[in-house]
Amino acid sequence: MLEQLRAKADCPEAVDLVVVGGGITGAGVALDAALRGFDVVLVERGDFASGTSSKSSKLVHGGLRYLQQGDVALVREALRERSILQRIAQGRVEVLPFLLPIFTKDGLFPRRIARALGSALWAYDTAGGWRIGRLHRRLRKSGVAKMAPLLNSDRIAGGYLYYDARADDARLTLDVAATAVREGALAVNYCSLTGVTVESGAVNTVELDVDGSHISLQTRCVVNAAGVWAERVDDLVNGELAEPLPALTARPARGVHVTIPWELVQTQVAMVLPVPGDKRSVFLVPDKPQPDGTFDVAYIGTTDTDHSGTLDDPACTSDDVEYLLRSVNAAMESSVTRDHVIGVWSGLRPLVTSDDDSDGRTADVSRRHRVDMSSSGYVRVVGGKLTTYRSMAEDTLNHVERILEKRQPCSTRKTPLADRNPQLLDSIRSNASSGVLPLHSTLTEADVVYAVRHEAAIHLVDVLTRRSRLHLLHRDLAMECAEPVSFIMQRELGWSESTRQQELQSYTDLCHSEIDAMREGIQ
Ligand SMILES: Cc1cc2nc3c(=O)[nH]c(=O)nc-3n(C[C@H](O)[C@H](O)[C@H](O)COP(=O)(O)OP(=O)(O)OC[C@H]3O[C@@H](n4cnc5c(N)ncnc54)[C@H](O)[C@@H]3O)c2cc1C
Repeated sequence: MLEQLRAKADCPEAVDLVVVGGGITGAGVALDAALRGFDVVLVERGDFASGTSSKSSKLVHGGLRYLQQGDVALVREALRERSILQRIAQGRVEVLPFLLPIFTKDGLFPRRIARALGSALWAYDTAGGWRIGRLHRRLRKSGVAKMAPLLNSDRIAGGYLYYDARADDARLTLDVAATAVREGALAVNYCSLTGVTVESGAVNTVELDVDGSHISLQTRCVVNAAGVWAERVDDLVNGELAEPLPALTARPARGVHVTIPWELVQTQVAMVLPVPGDKRSVFLVPDKPQPDGTFDVAYIGTTDTDHSGTLDDPACTSDDVEYLLRSVNAAMESSVTRDHVIGVWSGLRPLVTSDDDSDGRTADVSRRHRVDMSSSGYVRVVGGKLTTYRSMAEDTLNHVERILEKRQPCSTRKTPLADRNPQLLDSIRSNASSGVLPLHSTLTEADVVYAVRHEAAIHLVDVLTRRSRLHLLHRDLAMECAEPVSFIMQRELGWSESTRQQELQSYTDLCHSEIDAMREGIQ
Protein backbone atom coordinates (compact mmCIF):
# COMPACT_ATOMS: atom_id res chain seq x y z
CA MET A 1 0.00 0.00 0.00
CA LEU A 2 2.79 2.35 0.97
CA GLU A 3 4.65 1.67 -2.26
CA GLN A 4 1.50 2.35 -4.22
CA LEU A 5 0.96 5.55 -2.26
CA ARG A 6 4.50 6.71 -3.10
CA ALA A 7 3.90 5.86 -6.76
CA LYS A 8 0.71 7.95 -6.71
CA ALA A 9 2.58 10.84 -5.11
CA ASP A 10 5.12 10.74 -7.97
CA CYS A 11 2.34 10.81 -10.54
CA PRO A 12 1.47 14.29 -11.90
CA GLU A 13 -2.29 13.54 -11.80
CA ALA A 14 -4.20 14.39 -8.61
CA VAL A 15 -6.21 11.66 -6.86
CA ASP A 16 -9.96 12.32 -6.53
CA LEU A 17 -10.06 12.25 -2.77
CA VAL A 18 -8.07 11.61 0.37
CA VAL A 19 -10.01 10.36 3.39
CA VAL A 20 -8.46 11.19 6.77
CA GLY A 21 -9.20 8.71 9.58
CA GLY A 22 -9.31 4.93 9.41
CA GLY A 23 -12.16 4.41 11.88
CA ILE A 24 -15.49 3.01 10.73
CA THR A 25 -16.53 6.38 9.27
CA GLY A 26 -13.42 6.89 7.11
CA ALA A 27 -13.35 3.23 6.04
CA GLY A 28 -17.03 3.50 5.03
CA VAL A 29 -16.38 6.67 3.04
CA ALA A 30 -13.39 5.08 1.26
CA LEU A 31 -15.49 2.04 0.34
CA ASP A 32 -18.40 4.06 -1.02
CA ALA A 33 -15.97 6.26 -2.99
CA ALA A 34 -14.15 3.26 -4.49
CA LEU A 35 -17.46 1.65 -5.49
CA ARG A 36 -18.49 4.88 -7.23
CA GLY A 37 -15.30 4.66 -9.28
CA PHE A 38 -13.28 7.39 -7.56
CA ASP A 39 -9.53 7.26 -7.09
CA VAL A 40 -9.45 7.29 -3.29
CA VAL A 41 -6.73 7.11 -0.64
CA LEU A 42 -7.53 6.43 3.04
CA VAL A 43 -4.93 7.47 5.60
CA GLU A 44 -4.93 6.53 9.29
CA ARG A 45 -2.31 7.91 11.65
CA GLY A 46 -2.42 4.87 13.97
CA ASP A 47 -3.87 1.45 13.34
CA PHE A 48 -7.21 1.03 11.62
CA ALA A 49 -9.96 1.31 14.30
CA SER A 50 -7.45 2.45 16.93
CA GLY A 51 -9.67 5.45 17.78
CA THR A 52 -13.26 5.16 18.95
CA SER A 53 -14.09 2.38 16.50
CA SER A 54 -12.58 -0.34 18.70
CA LYS A 55 -14.00 1.07 21.95
CA SER A 56 -17.75 0.95 21.40
CA SER A 57 -20.36 -1.24 23.12
CA LYS A 58 -20.14 -3.36 19.95
CA LEU A 59 -23.89 -3.22 19.37
CA VAL A 60 -25.44 -2.96 15.96
CA HIS A 61 -28.66 -1.51 17.22
CA GLY A 62 -31.38 1.04 16.86
CA GLY A 63 -30.93 2.23 20.43
CA LEU A 64 -34.07 1.87 22.50
CA ARG A 65 -32.89 4.82 24.57
CA TYR A 66 -32.93 7.21 21.57
CA LEU A 67 -36.56 6.30 21.04
CA GLN A 68 -37.28 7.26 24.63
CA GLN A 69 -35.52 10.57 23.85
CA GLY A 70 -37.93 11.04 20.93
CA ASP A 71 -35.36 10.60 18.12
CA VAL A 72 -37.53 8.26 16.04
CA ALA A 73 -35.75 9.14 12.77
CA LEU A 74 -32.36 8.05 14.14
CA VAL A 75 -33.79 4.78 15.45
CA ARG A 76 -35.53 4.05 12.15
CA GLU A 77 -32.32 4.73 10.22
CA ALA A 78 -30.21 2.61 12.58
CA LEU A 79 -32.65 -0.32 12.47
CA ARG A 80 -32.69 -0.20 8.67
CA GLU A 81 -28.88 -0.14 8.67
CA ARG A 82 -28.80 -3.01 11.15
CA SER A 83 -30.62 -5.25 8.70
CA ILE A 84 -28.43 -4.12 5.77
CA LEU A 85 -25.36 -4.99 7.84
CA GLN A 86 -26.77 -8.40 8.74
CA ARG A 87 -26.98 -9.02 4.99
CA ILE A 88 -23.64 -7.58 3.81
CA ALA A 89 -21.60 -8.80 6.80
CA GLN A 90 -23.19 -12.21 7.18
CA GLY A 91 -21.85 -14.21 10.08
CA ARG A 92 -20.22 -11.16 11.62
CA VAL A 93 -23.35 -9.37 12.84
CA GLU A 94 -25.07 -11.73 15.23
CA VAL A 95 -28.51 -11.42 16.75
CA LEU A 96 -28.35 -10.58 20.45
CA PRO A 97 -31.37 -11.13 22.70
CA PHE A 98 -31.77 -8.40 25.32
CA LEU A 99 -33.54 -8.75 28.64
CA LEU A 100 -35.14 -5.68 30.14
CA PRO A 101 -35.87 -6.70 33.71
CA ILE A 102 -38.73 -5.00 35.55
CA PHE A 103 -37.95 -4.40 39.21
CA THR A 104 -40.54 -4.15 41.95
CA LYS A 105 -41.19 -0.75 43.49
CA ASP A 106 -41.70 -0.76 47.25
CA GLY A 107 -42.33 -4.49 46.94
CA LEU A 108 -45.13 -4.04 44.37
CA PHE A 109 -45.38 -4.73 40.65
CA PRO A 110 -44.79 -1.34 38.94
CA ARG A 111 -47.69 -1.36 36.45
CA ARG A 112 -47.00 2.09 35.03
CA ILE A 113 -43.31 1.32 34.33
CA ALA A 114 -44.17 -2.06 32.79
CA ARG A 115 -46.77 -0.44 30.51
CA ALA A 116 -44.33 2.31 29.48
CA LEU A 117 -41.61 -0.24 28.65
CA GLY A 118 -44.09 -2.35 26.70
CA SER A 119 -45.17 0.67 24.63
CA ALA A 120 -41.54 1.64 23.99
CA LEU A 121 -40.79 -1.87 22.74
CA TRP A 122 -43.84 -1.87 20.46
CA ALA A 123 -42.61 1.43 19.06
CA TYR A 124 -39.11 -0.09 18.64
CA ASP A 125 -40.49 -3.09 16.76
CA THR A 126 -42.63 -0.81 14.59
CA ALA A 127 -39.70 1.54 13.86
CA GLY A 128 -37.85 -1.40 12.28
CA GLY A 129 -37.07 -3.80 15.14
CA TRP A 130 -39.28 -6.33 13.32
CA ARG A 131 -36.70 -6.59 10.54
CA ILE A 132 -34.63 -8.95 12.70
CA GLY A 133 -37.43 -11.50 12.35
CA ARG A 134 -38.53 -11.56 16.00
CA LEU A 135 -40.75 -9.29 18.03
CA HIS A 136 -40.34 -8.46 21.68
CA ARG A 137 -42.22 -10.48 24.28
CA ARG A 138 -43.20 -10.15 27.90
CA LEU A 139 -41.64 -12.53 30.44
CA ARG A 140 -42.90 -13.75 33.77
CA LYS A 141 -40.63 -13.69 36.78
CA SER A 142 -39.80 -17.39 36.22
CA GLY A 143 -38.82 -16.71 32.59
CA VAL A 144 -36.49 -13.93 33.71
CA ALA A 145 -34.92 -16.18 36.36
CA LYS A 146 -34.25 -18.86 33.74
CA MET A 147 -32.30 -16.45 31.56
CA ALA A 148 -30.50 -14.63 34.35
CA PRO A 149 -30.55 -16.83 37.49
CA LEU A 150 -28.42 -14.41 39.52
CA LEU A 151 -30.81 -11.47 39.15
CA ASN A 152 -32.01 -10.48 42.60
CA SER A 153 -35.14 -12.66 42.82
CA ASP A 154 -36.74 -10.55 45.59
CA ARG A 155 -36.74 -7.49 43.36
CA ILE A 156 -37.71 -9.01 40.00
CA ALA A 157 -41.32 -8.48 38.94
CA GLY A 158 -40.98 -9.75 35.35
CA GLY A 159 -39.36 -8.46 32.21
CA TYR A 160 -39.28 -8.07 28.45
CA LEU A 161 -37.14 -9.78 25.86
CA TYR A 162 -36.27 -7.95 22.65
CA TYR A 163 -33.68 -8.40 19.93
CA ASP A 164 -30.76 -6.37 18.67
CA ALA A 165 -27.40 -7.35 17.19
CA ARG A 166 -23.71 -7.09 17.87
CA ALA A 167 -20.45 -7.14 15.95
CA ASP A 168 -16.76 -6.86 16.69
CA ASP A 169 -16.34 -3.14 15.93
CA ALA A 170 -12.61 -3.27 15.10
CA ARG A 171 -13.07 -6.29 12.85
CA LEU A 172 -16.01 -4.62 11.10
CA THR A 173 -13.83 -1.55 10.46
CA LEU A 174 -11.04 -3.74 9.08
CA ASP A 175 -13.49 -5.59 6.87
CA VAL A 176 -14.90 -2.34 5.49
CA ALA A 177 -11.36 -1.04 4.83
CA ALA A 178 -10.40 -4.35 3.20
CA THR A 179 -13.48 -4.16 0.98
CA ALA A 180 -12.51 -0.62 -0.02
CA VAL A 181 -9.08 -1.96 -1.04
CA ARG A 182 -10.71 -4.82 -2.94
CA GLU A 183 -12.73 -2.21 -4.84
CA GLY A 184 -9.62 -0.19 -5.76
CA ALA A 185 -8.94 2.15 -2.80
CA LEU A 186 -5.54 2.57 -1.19
CA ALA A 187 -5.71 2.29 2.61
CA VAL A 188 -2.58 3.01 4.64
CA ASN A 189 -2.28 2.78 8.41
CA TYR A 190 0.41 4.51 10.47
CA CYS A 191 0.25 7.37 7.95
CA SER A 192 -0.64 10.80 9.41
CA LEU A 193 -2.06 13.76 7.63
CA THR A 194 0.15 16.69 8.65
CA GLY A 195 -1.15 19.43 6.37
CA VAL A 196 -3.62 20.35 3.63
CA THR A 197 -2.31 22.92 1.17
CA VAL A 198 -4.81 25.29 -0.36
CA GLU A 199 -3.95 27.02 -3.64
CA SER A 200 -6.06 29.69 -5.31
CA GLY A 201 -8.77 29.08 -2.70
CA ALA A 202 -9.09 25.33 -3.33
CA VAL A 203 -7.63 22.17 -1.80
CA ASN A 204 -4.58 21.14 -3.80
CA THR A 205 -2.23 18.83 -1.89
CA VAL A 206 -2.08 16.79 1.30
CA GLU A 207 1.09 16.37 3.31
CA LEU A 208 1.54 12.94 4.85
CA ASP A 209 4.01 11.47 7.29
CA VAL A 210 4.94 7.80 7.47
CA ASP A 211 7.57 6.95 10.09
CA GLY A 212 9.17 10.36 9.74
CA SER A 213 9.24 10.25 5.95
CA HIS A 214 7.23 12.88 4.15
CA ILE A 215 4.88 12.34 1.20
CA SER A 216 3.04 15.08 -0.76
CA LEU A 217 0.01 13.93 -2.65
CA GLN A 218 -2.10 16.05 -4.98
CA THR A 219 -5.82 15.68 -4.47
CA ARG A 220 -9.03 17.34 -5.59
CA CYS A 221 -10.84 16.76 -2.34
CA VAL A 222 -10.19 15.92 1.33
CA VAL A 223 -12.71 14.18 3.58
CA ASN A 224 -12.08 14.75 7.26
CA ALA A 225 -13.41 11.63 9.04
CA ALA A 226 -11.16 11.98 12.08
CA GLY A 227 -13.84 11.53 14.76
CA VAL A 228 -12.95 13.38 17.97
CA TRP A 229 -9.78 14.67 16.24
CA ALA A 230 -11.80 16.38 13.45
CA GLU A 231 -11.18 19.89 14.79
CA ARG A 232 -7.43 19.22 14.88
CA VAL A 233 -7.51 18.05 11.28
CA ASP A 234 -9.41 21.24 10.34
CA ASP A 235 -6.52 23.17 11.90
CA LEU A 236 -4.11 21.50 9.48
CA VAL A 237 -5.62 23.34 6.50
CA ASN A 238 -3.01 25.88 5.38
CA GLY A 239 -4.52 28.75 3.46
CA GLU A 240 -7.98 30.27 2.98
CA LEU A 241 -10.63 28.13 1.32
CA ALA A 242 -12.65 30.24 -1.12
CA GLU A 243 -15.73 28.87 0.58
CA PRO A 244 -14.88 28.37 4.29
CA LEU A 245 -16.32 25.49 6.27
CA PRO A 246 -18.59 26.24 9.26
CA ALA A 247 -16.73 25.81 12.56
CA LEU A 248 -17.32 22.54 14.37
CA THR A 249 -18.76 22.40 17.88
CA ALA A 250 -17.75 18.99 19.11
CA ARG A 251 -18.26 17.69 22.61
CA PRO A 252 -16.29 14.51 23.28
CA ALA A 253 -18.01 12.17 25.72
CA ARG A 254 -16.07 9.39 27.41
CA GLY A 255 -17.49 5.91 27.61
CA VAL A 256 -15.91 3.07 29.57
CA HIS A 257 -16.50 -0.69 29.54
CA VAL A 258 -15.15 -3.34 31.88
CA THR A 259 -14.94 -7.11 31.42
CA ILE A 260 -15.49 -9.63 34.21
CA PRO A 261 -15.59 -13.45 34.31
CA TRP A 262 -19.00 -14.68 33.20
CA GLU A 263 -19.49 -16.99 36.25
CA LEU A 264 -20.02 -13.89 38.37
CA VAL A 265 -23.20 -12.94 36.50
CA GLN A 266 -24.23 -16.11 34.62
CA THR A 267 -26.65 -14.45 32.27
CA GLN A 268 -27.63 -16.20 29.04
CA VAL A 269 -28.76 -12.96 27.39
CA ALA A 270 -27.64 -9.33 27.30
CA MET A 271 -29.36 -7.10 29.85
CA VAL A 272 -30.26 -3.48 30.35
CA LEU A 273 -29.64 -2.58 33.99
CA PRO A 274 -30.50 0.68 35.73
CA VAL A 275 -27.71 2.59 37.49
CA PRO A 276 -28.74 3.37 41.09
CA GLY A 277 -28.80 7.11 41.71
CA ASP A 278 -28.67 7.98 38.01
CA LYS A 279 -31.32 8.11 35.30
CA ARG A 280 -29.17 6.07 32.95
CA SER A 281 -28.87 2.36 32.39
CA VAL A 282 -25.96 0.21 31.27
CA PHE A 283 -25.61 -2.97 29.23
CA LEU A 284 -24.38 -6.27 30.61
CA VAL A 285 -23.36 -8.45 27.67
CA PRO A 286 -22.20 -12.11 27.85
CA ASP A 287 -19.40 -12.79 25.40
CA LYS A 288 -17.23 -15.62 24.08
CA PRO A 289 -19.80 -18.46 24.05
CA GLN A 290 -18.47 -21.84 25.13
CA PRO A 291 -19.47 -25.24 23.69
CA ASP A 292 -21.37 -26.14 26.90
CA GLY A 293 -23.79 -23.20 26.55
CA THR A 294 -22.01 -20.98 29.06
CA PHE A 295 -19.88 -17.93 28.25
CA ASP A 296 -16.31 -17.03 29.05
CA VAL A 297 -16.70 -13.36 29.97
CA ALA A 298 -19.28 -10.59 30.27
CA TYR A 299 -18.75 -6.90 29.73
CA ILE A 300 -20.51 -3.95 31.32
CA GLY A 301 -20.85 -0.48 29.79
CA THR A 302 -21.01 2.24 29.22
CA THR A 303 -20.41 5.35 31.23
CA ASP A 304 -21.22 8.59 29.40
CA THR A 305 -19.45 11.65 30.75
CA ASP A 306 -18.03 14.91 29.42
CA HIS A 307 -14.36 14.56 28.63
CA SER A 308 -11.87 17.36 28.91
CA GLY A 309 -8.57 15.43 29.17
CA THR A 310 -6.33 14.10 26.41
CA LEU A 311 -8.07 12.78 23.30
CA ASP A 312 -5.47 10.04 22.90
CA ASP A 313 -6.02 6.98 25.07
CA PRO A 314 -8.53 8.35 27.62
CA ALA A 315 -8.21 6.46 30.89
CA CYS A 316 -10.76 4.32 32.69
CA THR A 317 -10.77 5.63 36.25
CA SER A 318 -11.71 3.91 39.49
CA ASP A 319 -14.90 6.05 39.56
CA ASP A 320 -15.88 4.65 36.17
CA VAL A 321 -15.39 1.11 37.41
CA GLU A 322 -17.37 1.78 40.60
CA TYR A 323 -20.23 3.28 38.56
CA LEU A 324 -20.48 0.23 36.30
CA LEU A 325 -20.16 -2.36 39.05
CA ARG A 326 -22.76 -0.57 41.16
CA SER A 327 -25.45 -1.26 38.58
CA VAL A 328 -24.60 -4.97 38.42
CA ASN A 329 -24.34 -5.44 42.17
CA ALA A 330 -27.63 -3.63 42.78
CA ALA A 331 -29.49 -5.83 40.31
CA MET A 332 -27.86 -9.19 40.97
CA GLU A 333 -27.05 -11.49 43.82
CA SER A 334 -23.41 -10.92 43.16
CA SER A 335 -20.62 -8.96 44.66
CA VAL A 336 -18.37 -7.96 41.84
CA THR A 337 -15.38 -5.87 42.89
CA ARG A 338 -12.75 -4.09 40.89
CA ASP A 339 -10.38 -6.99 41.57
CA HIS A 340 -12.63 -9.12 39.37
CA VAL A 341 -12.16 -6.80 36.38
CA ILE A 342 -10.09 -8.57 33.71
CA GLY A 343 -10.26 -6.02 30.91
CA VAL A 344 -11.23 -2.42 30.23
CA TRP A 345 -11.66 -0.13 27.27
CA SER A 346 -12.37 3.56 27.17
CA GLY A 347 -13.40 5.58 24.12
CA LEU A 348 -14.61 9.03 23.16
CA ARG A 349 -17.84 9.65 21.31
CA PRO A 350 -17.46 12.29 18.64
CA LEU A 351 -20.72 14.05 19.54
CA VAL A 352 -21.76 17.08 17.52
CA THR A 353 -23.61 19.68 19.55
CA SER A 354 -26.11 22.34 18.70
CA ASP A 355 -26.57 25.42 20.88
CA ASP A 356 -29.26 23.57 22.87
CA ASP A 357 -26.80 20.82 23.81
CA SER A 358 -24.08 22.93 25.35
CA ASP A 359 -25.29 22.23 28.89
CA GLY A 360 -26.81 19.07 30.25
CA ARG A 361 -25.67 15.46 30.13
CA THR A 362 -23.69 14.03 27.22
CA ALA A 363 -26.08 11.05 27.32
CA ASP A 364 -28.79 13.41 26.04
CA VAL A 365 -26.79 14.79 23.09
CA SER A 366 -27.97 13.47 19.73
CA ARG A 367 -26.09 10.58 18.09
CA ARG A 368 -26.85 11.88 14.60
CA HIS A 369 -24.06 12.62 12.19
CA ARG A 370 -23.34 15.85 10.41
CA VAL A 371 -21.70 16.49 7.04
CA ASP A 372 -20.25 19.94 6.25
CA MET A 373 -18.94 20.75 2.80
CA SER A 374 -16.87 23.48 1.22
CA SER A 375 -17.07 23.44 -2.57
CA SER A 376 -13.38 24.36 -2.44
CA GLY A 377 -12.65 20.65 -1.92
CA TYR A 378 -13.09 19.97 1.79
CA VAL A 379 -15.75 17.80 3.44
CA ARG A 380 -16.09 16.93 7.12
CA VAL A 381 -18.21 14.11 8.55
CA VAL A 382 -18.59 13.68 12.31
CA GLY A 383 -20.91 12.07 14.84
CA GLY A 384 -23.17 9.15 14.09
CA LYS A 385 -22.82 5.56 15.22
CA LEU A 386 -20.99 2.43 14.27
CA THR A 387 -24.36 1.04 13.15
CA THR A 388 -25.05 3.89 10.73
CA TYR A 389 -21.58 4.14 9.14
CA ARG A 390 -22.90 3.06 5.71
CA SER A 391 -25.59 5.70 5.46
CA MET A 392 -23.15 8.33 6.81
CA ALA A 393 -20.76 7.38 4.01
CA GLU A 394 -23.54 7.58 1.43
CA ASP A 395 -24.47 11.04 2.65
CA THR A 396 -20.80 12.12 2.59
CA LEU A 397 -20.22 10.85 -0.94
CA ASN A 398 -23.31 12.66 -2.16
CA HIS A 399 -21.55 15.86 -0.99
CA VAL A 400 -18.18 14.81 -2.45
CA GLU A 401 -19.80 14.24 -5.83
CA ARG A 402 -20.87 17.87 -5.92
CA ILE A 403 -17.20 18.85 -5.63
CA LEU A 404 -15.93 16.29 -8.11
CA GLU A 405 -18.84 16.96 -10.50
CA LYS A 406 -19.48 13.31 -11.22
CA ARG A 407 -22.57 11.41 -10.15
CA GLN A 408 -22.69 7.67 -9.58
CA PRO A 409 -25.26 5.64 -7.70
CA CYS A 410 -24.34 4.35 -4.25
CA SER A 411 -24.04 0.56 -4.15
CA THR A 412 -22.82 -0.16 -0.63
CA ARG A 413 -26.12 -1.62 0.54
CA LYS A 414 -25.74 -4.45 -1.97
CA THR A 415 -22.00 -5.04 -1.70
CA PRO A 416 -20.97 -7.89 0.63
CA LEU A 417 -18.05 -6.99 2.87
CA ALA A 418 -14.73 -8.79 2.51
CA ASP A 419 -14.04 -11.46 5.11
CA ARG A 420 -10.92 -13.30 6.12
CA ASN A 421 -9.94 -15.66 3.31
CA PRO A 422 -10.37 -19.24 4.63
CA GLN A 423 -8.09 -20.78 1.97
CA LEU A 424 -5.26 -18.39 2.82
CA LEU A 425 -5.77 -19.02 6.52
CA ASP A 426 -5.73 -22.80 5.94
CA SER A 427 -2.55 -22.64 3.92
CA ILE A 428 -0.87 -20.56 6.64
CA ARG A 429 -2.17 -23.02 9.22
CA SER A 430 -0.69 -25.99 7.42
CA ASN A 431 2.69 -24.26 7.15
CA ALA A 432 2.75 -22.75 10.65
CA SER A 433 5.22 -24.39 12.98
CA SER A 434 2.90 -24.98 15.93
CA GLY A 435 -0.47 -24.10 14.38
CA VAL A 436 -1.97 -23.09 17.67
CA LEU A 437 -0.36 -20.92 20.29
CA PRO A 438 -0.29 -22.84 23.53
CA LEU A 439 -1.85 -20.03 25.55
CA HIS A 440 -5.22 -19.24 24.12
CA SER A 441 -7.59 -21.09 21.87
CA THR A 442 -8.82 -17.93 20.15
CA LEU A 443 -5.40 -16.69 19.05
CA THR A 444 -3.41 -19.11 16.96
CA GLU A 445 -0.05 -18.68 15.31
CA ALA A 446 -1.86 -18.71 11.96
CA ASP A 447 -4.07 -15.80 13.09
CA VAL A 448 -0.99 -13.75 13.91
CA VAL A 449 0.69 -14.55 10.60
CA TYR A 450 -2.52 -13.76 8.72
CA ALA A 451 -2.92 -10.47 10.58
CA VAL A 452 0.60 -9.41 9.61
CA ARG A 453 0.54 -10.60 6.00
CA HIS A 454 -3.00 -9.73 5.02
CA GLU A 455 -4.48 -7.35 7.58
CA ALA A 456 -1.78 -4.70 7.91
CA ALA A 457 -0.95 -5.47 11.56
CA ILE A 458 2.32 -3.66 12.21
CA HIS A 459 2.65 -3.53 15.99
CA LEU A 460 2.12 -6.06 18.76
CA VAL A 461 -0.79 -4.03 20.11
CA ASP A 462 -2.56 -4.22 16.71
CA VAL A 463 -2.72 -8.01 16.99
CA LEU A 464 -3.60 -8.18 20.69
CA THR A 465 -6.31 -5.49 20.73
CA ARG A 466 -7.83 -5.24 17.25
CA ARG A 467 -7.04 -8.29 15.05
CA SER A 468 -8.03 -10.29 18.13
CA ARG A 469 -9.92 -8.88 21.12
CA LEU A 470 -7.89 -10.76 23.70
CA HIS A 471 -6.59 -7.60 25.38
CA LEU A 472 -10.09 -6.16 25.86
CA LEU A 473 -11.63 -9.36 27.11
CA HIS A 474 -8.80 -10.89 29.11
CA ARG A 475 -5.79 -8.66 29.66
CA ASP A 476 -3.79 -11.21 31.69
CA LEU A 477 -4.08 -13.82 28.95
CA ALA A 478 -3.12 -11.23 26.35
CA MET A 479 -0.04 -10.36 28.45
CA GLU A 480 0.89 -14.03 28.57
CA CYS A 481 0.49 -14.29 24.80
CA ALA A 482 2.49 -11.11 24.13
CA GLU A 483 5.90 -12.78 24.11
CA PRO A 484 5.09 -15.67 21.71
CA VAL A 485 3.16 -13.26 19.47
CA SER A 486 6.15 -10.91 19.42
CA PHE A 487 8.41 -13.75 18.23
CA ILE A 488 6.04 -14.58 15.37
CA MET A 489 5.85 -10.91 14.40
CA GLN A 490 9.63 -10.63 14.59
CA ARG A 491 9.94 -13.51 12.15
CA GLU A 492 7.28 -12.11 9.81
CA LEU A 493 8.36 -8.47 9.88
CA GLY A 494 12.11 -8.91 10.26
CA TRP A 495 12.22 -7.01 13.57
CA SER A 496 15.57 -6.66 15.30
CA GLU A 497 15.73 -7.98 18.86
CA SER A 498 15.62 -4.42 20.18
CA THR A 499 12.46 -3.66 18.15
CA ARG A 500 10.83 -6.78 19.56
CA GLN A 501 11.77 -5.72 23.08
CA GLN A 502 10.42 -2.19 22.47
CA GLU A 503 7.14 -3.64 21.18
CA LEU A 504 6.82 -5.79 24.28
CA GLN A 505 7.69 -2.85 26.51
CA SER A 506 5.12 -0.51 24.96
CA TYR A 507 2.42 -3.18 25.24
CA THR A 508 3.36 -3.84 28.88
CA ASP A 509 3.29 -0.07 29.54
CA LEU A 510 -0.22 0.12 28.10
CA CYS A 511 -1.38 -2.70 30.39
CA HIS A 512 0.18 -1.11 33.45
CA SER A 513 -1.23 2.33 32.71
CA GLU A 514 -4.72 0.77 32.46
CA ILE A 515 -4.27 -1.07 35.74
CA ASP A 516 -2.89 2.01 37.52
CA ALA A 517 -5.62 4.34 36.27
CA MET A 518 -8.31 1.91 37.35
CA ARG A 519 -6.81 1.40 40.78
CA GLU A 520 -5.86 4.94 41.62
CA GLY A 521 -8.27 7.00 39.55
CA ILE A 522 -5.42 8.70 37.70
CA GLN A 523 -6.74 10.44 34.57
C1 LIG B 1 -18.29 4.13 24.73
C2 LIG B 1 -18.90 4.11 23.37
C3 LIG B 1 -19.85 3.15 23.04
C4 LIG B 1 -20.40 3.13 21.77
N1 LIG B 1 -21.26 2.13 21.46
C5 LIG B 1 -21.79 2.06 20.24
C6 LIG B 1 -22.59 0.96 19.88
O1 LIG B 1 -22.77 0.02 20.66
N2 LIG B 1 -23.14 0.95 18.66
C7 LIG B 1 -22.92 1.95 17.77
O2 LIG B 1 -23.50 1.88 16.69
N3 LIG B 1 -22.12 2.99 18.04
C8 LIG B 1 -21.52 3.05 19.26
N4 LIG B 1 -20.68 4.07 19.57
C9 LIG B 1 -20.36 5.07 18.56
C10 LIG B 1 -19.28 4.60 17.59
O3 LIG B 1 -18.30 3.84 18.25
C11 LIG B 1 -18.62 5.82 16.94
O4 LIG B 1 -19.61 6.64 16.40
C12 LIG B 1 -17.66 5.44 15.82
O5 LIG B 1 -16.78 4.41 16.21
C13 LIG B 1 -16.87 6.67 15.40
O6 LIG B 1 -16.05 6.29 14.34
P1 LIG B 1 -15.16 7.35 13.59
O7 LIG B 1 -14.53 6.64 12.44
O8 LIG B 1 -15.95 8.56 13.27
O9 LIG B 1 -14.07 7.79 14.65
P2 LIG B 1 -12.74 7.00 15.08
O10 LIG B 1 -12.95 5.55 15.15
O11 LIG B 1 -12.20 7.67 16.28
O12 LIG B 1 -11.77 7.25 13.84
C14 LIG B 1 -11.12 8.47 13.62
C15 LIG B 1 -9.70 8.14 13.21
O13 LIG B 1 -9.04 9.31 12.73
C16 LIG B 1 -7.65 9.12 12.95
N5 LIG B 1 -6.94 10.38 12.81
C17 LIG B 1 -7.02 11.47 13.62
N6 LIG B 1 -6.20 12.43 13.17
C18 LIG B 1 -5.59 11.96 12.04
C19 LIG B 1 -4.61 12.48 11.14
N7 LIG B 1 -4.08 13.70 11.31
N8 LIG B 1 -4.19 11.70 10.10
C20 LIG B 1 -4.72 10.46 9.92
N9 LIG B 1 -5.64 9.90 10.77
C21 LIG B 1 -6.07 10.65 11.80
C22 LIG B 1 -7.63 8.57 14.38
O14 LIG B 1 -6.42 7.90 14.67
C23 LIG B 1 -8.85 7.64 14.39
O15 LIG B 1 -8.50 6.28 14.18
C24 LIG B 1 -20.06 4.11 20.82
C25 LIG B 1 -19.11 5.09 21.15
C26 LIG B 1 -18.52 5.07 22.40
C27 LIG B 1 -17.46 6.07 22.75
